[in-house]
Amino acid sequence: MSENLEEYTKKVIEEFEVISNDAERVQRETLKSILEENASAEYLQSLGLNGRTDPESFKACVPLVTHDDLLPYINRIFDGENSPILTGKPITALVLSSGTTKGKSKYVPWSDTFLDSAVQILHTAFAIRDRELPIKNGKCLSIVYLSAQSQTKGGLKLGTVASHVVSNKRYNEAMTAIKSEICTPQEVICAPDFQQVLYCHLLCGLIYRDQIQLLEALFSYSIVQAFRTFEQVWEELCNDIREGVLSSRITVPSVRAAMSKILKPDPELANLIHKICTGLNNWYGVIQELFPNAKYLLAIATGSMEAYLPSLRHYAGELPVVTNDYGASEGWVGTNLHPTVPAEFASYTVFPNCCYYEFIPLSEDPKPVGLTEVNVGEEYEIVMTTRSGLYRYKLGDVVKVTGFYNSTPELKFIRRSGTLLTINIDKNTENDLRLAVVAASKLLAEEKLEVVDYTSHIDLSKEPGHYVIFLEINGEASEEVLSECSTCLDKSFVDPGYLSSRKGNTIGPLELRVVRRGTFQKIFDHFIGMGASATQLKTPRCVPATNTKVMQILNENVLNKYISAAFN
Ligand code: AMP
Repeated sequence: MSENLEEYTKKVIEEFEVISNDAERVQRETLKSILEENASAEYLQSLGLNGRTDPESFKACVPLVTHDDLLPYINRIFDGENSPILTGKPITALVLSSGTTKGKSKYVPWSDTFLDSAVQILHTAFAIRDRELPIKNGKCLSIVYLSAQSQTKGGLKLGTVASHVVSNKRYNEAMTAIKSEICTPQEVICAPDFQQVLYCHLLCGLIYRDQIQLLEALFSYSIVQAFRTFEQVWEELCNDIREGVLSSRITVPSVRAAMSKILKPDPELANLIHKICTGLNNWYGVIQELFPNAKYLLAIATGSMEAYLPSLRHYAGELPVVTNDYGASEGWVGTNLHPTVPAEFASYTVFPNCCYYEFIPLSEDPKPVGLTEVNVGEEYEIVMTTRSGLYRYKLGDVVKVTGFYNSTPELKFIRRSGTLLTINIDKNTENDLRLAVVAASKLLAEEKLEVVDYTSHIDLSKEPGHYVIFLEINGEASEEVLSECSTCLDKSFVDPGYLSSRKGNTIGPLELRVVRRGTFQKIFDHFIGMGASATQLKTPRCVPATNTKVMQILNENVLNKYISAAFN
């Protein structure tokens, strides 16, 4: 970046004004360049586009697809076939997407153009955010983990988006230039042991506490998880700082070496942190107290992450929580240009030059419409055409149009598409489950308790089948309240199919299973052990019976079961 930061941020805002004012033309051009770049791809050749690049021909020739439809092509790429299959130039890397509520990951093609979009979106978002929440020359506590990249048997790079993006030098330079330097050394972030990295993130944050202006993570769960860990290890962290000696729990030599460069004995700081921690009431506001110059917390806090907002705000105290960008391993969608709006009401403004977007209305007529043809107030499923070889790809997300920024829409994330819970004619989505848990949380809040995490399961082991909700709670609730919660959960599913099945007893009473503290951490650790990325991992909101390991973790940790008394 040659110009100074002020000129640069002015420039990115101006550029965004230009493209967002002319979204339809930009979309046409984006589609044209994607189709021209990839004209020689076998997939496009087989569809008879014959060089046409206009949206009308594109929609007439190219079918809407899901990941499953593209699997035969992706598998050939995985195996190392380097003819132009989905893209003109061979794909050199695949990324592992977790974009599912059922805990099943999938590989999607990756291209470096993702980085260009990432830098553009993050810079624009930063520049706009900085007008309301300015950050100057500080450091950032970034709770990220870079799981190692590997290779497919065909020699392609394999990893998560985070590992491709955050390990990229160009990206890091761009980020450092605009935001603030990440306080954790890169050697630490890249280490394989997630628990050790988390401990060091916390330690680095404390060492640089006066300089930290921003705390961030990709998903807000990571910040909550970090401070749940802090509750357990804060005294050990204080000891490390007091003595200037790193805890023996850190065993990775490269991490010890990197940390030894920044950890020096500082009894005064250790005493101060000790005083802060012992003076807090149930850890309320710990982040604000530990990082007095922090301006805000930045992490995706919508969709399935909304469940962690109460815990996040509890730890944050008065510090604002700003929800970040909206995107997927497949491609970017948009960013939050209204940082002071609470996450519950946040929308993401679409960048019309990242991908070519279509929207399938959830209404009677499911005919896809273009980016600028969407209606405010309506819900749609997103379809993407990307530079990395996905054409008319159903992302699997449902969004609602809340308005327009110039001529590009602003989208509220609603839920993953499709049904999460179904036994017969009932159809309940991820959002229906979330709302049921929110309703039960209100009963727990009366006892000053919070839901730590939750998931669900369809139990068909005996007739009639029934829904099971697993809740981890941050303390002990009375039997009476928990019984009420089970009934409340049951009554909260108001889809007509569920209601009639419950009344007719073709679906049995909902069962609440309360699990021990730490159960969801065990599930998290299980997924990490299976190679998932700690940065991107999301709790699966429904666990199928076939996922025997996760079902075993849940069931082994059940403290008590409560059967709903609704519809008796
Ligand atoms: P992944 O492919 O693992 O990167 O996950 C992408 C998925 O995460 C998206 O398809 C969404 O379902 C979800 N997601 C990403 N960003 C947001 C956001 N800002 N709000 C809610 N959900 C999001």
